[in-house]
Amino acid sequence: MPKSKTQFSIVVDGTKGVCAMGERVGNQNRNEGKIPVISCEGACIRGEIARLAAHLVAKEAPYRRSCHGEMFTISTSAIAGWMNEAQKVVVIDGCFLHCHGRILKNLIDEDKIAQFDALSVYNKYTDIFDIDDVPEEERKRVARQVADKVLADLKQGKRVEETTVGCGGCAK
Ligand code: SF4
Repeated sequence: MPKSKTQFSIVVDGTKGVCAMGERVGNQNRNEGKIPVISCEGACIRGEIARLAAHLVAKEAPYRRSCHGEMFTISTSAIAGWMNEAQKVVVIDGCFLHCHGRILKNLIDEDKIAQFDALSVYNKYTDIFDIDDVPEEERKRVARQVADKVLADLKQGKRVEETTVGCGGCAK
């Protein structure tokens, strides 16, 4: 398969739909100055651990969970408004491919993105795809490990170049 090194665009159909809960949460978090956290939401164990870690980070002040779907596809939503106006945005990608970070940096100011590669924290499961192939308790434990690293880096104010360090031992 050819490697994609060039930029490309995708077309998104508009919608007249509105998510009432997304509007309420987006407006509330914007008004309260919360920092949005999204994850890549990938389908494999790496995406799942990133998703779980994002939930954990978002439980801590001043962070709150945001929705990548509304951010990427409904520019008029309160969620998108919140993420556009936030001082910082946290994105936890499941692996070094940084699927959501690569989209996000073209939508908002790259300098305010704190971008993480969850795999580089725990550095295993590279031969596993299915989420269920890792027991639930272990998934939660590894997600906690990732979340703690993300929170520590955020506390230290690490810049994006420092938080996107790839996984030394995994295949790229
Ligand atoms: S960053 Fe990795 S885990 Fe997440 S969607 Fe992309 S390939 Fe999947």
